[in-house]
Amino acid sequence: MPFTAEHDALRETVREFVARELRPNADEWEAAEYFPDSLFPRMGELGLLGLRYPEEYGGQGGDYWSAIVLAEEMARCGSGGVGMAVSVQAEMATPPIFKFGTEEQKQRYLVPAIRGQKVAALGITEPDTGSDVASVRTRAVRHNGGWRINGSKLYITNGVRCDYILLVARTGTQEEGAHGITLFLVDKETPGFAVSRKLKKLGMHASDTAELSFSDVDVPESAVLGEVGQGFYHLMWELQGERLIGSAGSVAGAEVMFEETLRWCKEREAFGRPIARFQVNRHKLVDLYTDISICKNYVYSVAERWDKGEYPVAEISMAKLFVGQVTTRVADTCLQLHGGFGYMSEAHISRYFRDSRLIRIGAGTDEVMKEIIAKTALDL
Ligand SMILES: Cc1cc2nc3c(=O)[nH]c(=O)nc-3n(C[C@H](O)[C@H](O)[C@H](O)COP(=O)(O)OP(=O)(O)OC[C@H]3O[C@@H](n4cnc5c(N)ncnc54)[C@H](O)[C@@H]3O)c2cc1C
Repeated sequence: MPFTAEHDALRETVREFVARELRPNADEWEAAEYFPDSLFPRMGELGLLGLRYPEEYGGQGGDYWSAIVLAEEMARCGSGGVGMAVSVQAEMATPPIFKFGTEEQKQRYLVPAIRGQKVAALGITEPDTGSDVASVRTRAVRHNGGWRINGSKLYITNGVRCDYILLVARTGTQEEGAHGITLFLVDKETPGFAVSRKLKKLGMHASDTAELSFSDVDVPESAVLGEVGQGFYHLMWELQGERLIGSAGSVAGAEVMFEETLRWCKEREAFGRPIARFQVNRHKLVDLYTDISICKNYVYSVAERWDKGEYPVAEISMAKLFVGQVTTRVADTCLQLHGGFGYMSEAHISRYFRDSRLIRIGAGTDEVMKEIIAKTALDL
């Protein structure tokens, strides 16, 4: 097992925090389609937003397994949207700052994000392009010794409440594709940066998802993260971590839902016996249990390689693809086993059914994962 006594202690702390401070509020936050901004400083105070960043930046100096513990325990908070918002902050928008950022950028963006004093967002997707990242049209051109940015981003998690965004923009020509892309760190308060609208969604209700616009947004040269023209490759590295942590969180969510459904099947009676006593249902539960166990172990095996510094792109893509398929199966089967109650808004399974669907779309769709696997593992 990859987890040490330290990880176990961390798990206990997070589980208690989730049970005490998140779970009781989940229904209210889901209904409000928002959760208080104060959650970020609170989690920062507990050290949960910088688990694997070095202590010199305010982090806990942990390894990748600490991040997995957090993702797994957040799956118990009753709102996929809260877990996702936190994950964007700790595991998606900030890792590239740590890896590619200058010392000044780390002090200005990473340190306050770890403390929860600044909320981060990651802006890749646009109205006209999502899967095809190399085709982004948001453009940054050299202007007055810095850069002028124009364009828009869509479906951006934390976009409404963020203090800054890690933005993917085109600095080369459209024909240069992946080679003409650069990452920028842009403060929300910069003139011309606006939230066009907050979007309504099928699930993940407590997270905020925005359409953002950039109209003559002037940023200094120091806003460039990493190398000019290398943004696509920096981003591909980020996406591996995002897919892996998303997979770990999704398996954990499936496990939580499975446990709840198992309890339900043992208690709910029909035709004079618990519904788990019908062989057809028992077998469904066994299938889900098997799928979840295999998924979890596969994700752990890939995480072990990622933690060692390897770059297992095909395996990460396979993990995300398979976890997505299993998650959908778990959600559908668990809802069915709940009968009419499963269709009610008050049932946890109905929220999970909606929330869990995102894994097959966000951070690269199933089809994109298949294309990556075809190319990297099968040379197709
Ligand atoms: C709730 C939510 C939160 C999100 N948060 C963020 C965020 O914080 N930051 C961010 O940048 N983005 C975010 N996204 C965007 C998400 O990553 C994209 O929606 C996703 O990558 C797909 O892009 P798209 O929506 O443009 O779909 P498209 O690329 O238009 O795809 C449409 C369909 O075509 C298929 N398709 C595309 N290309 C191929 C191909 N080559 N072969 C076969 N099929 C193909 C796709 O698989 C899909 O089924 C979020 C999305 C959602 C729903």
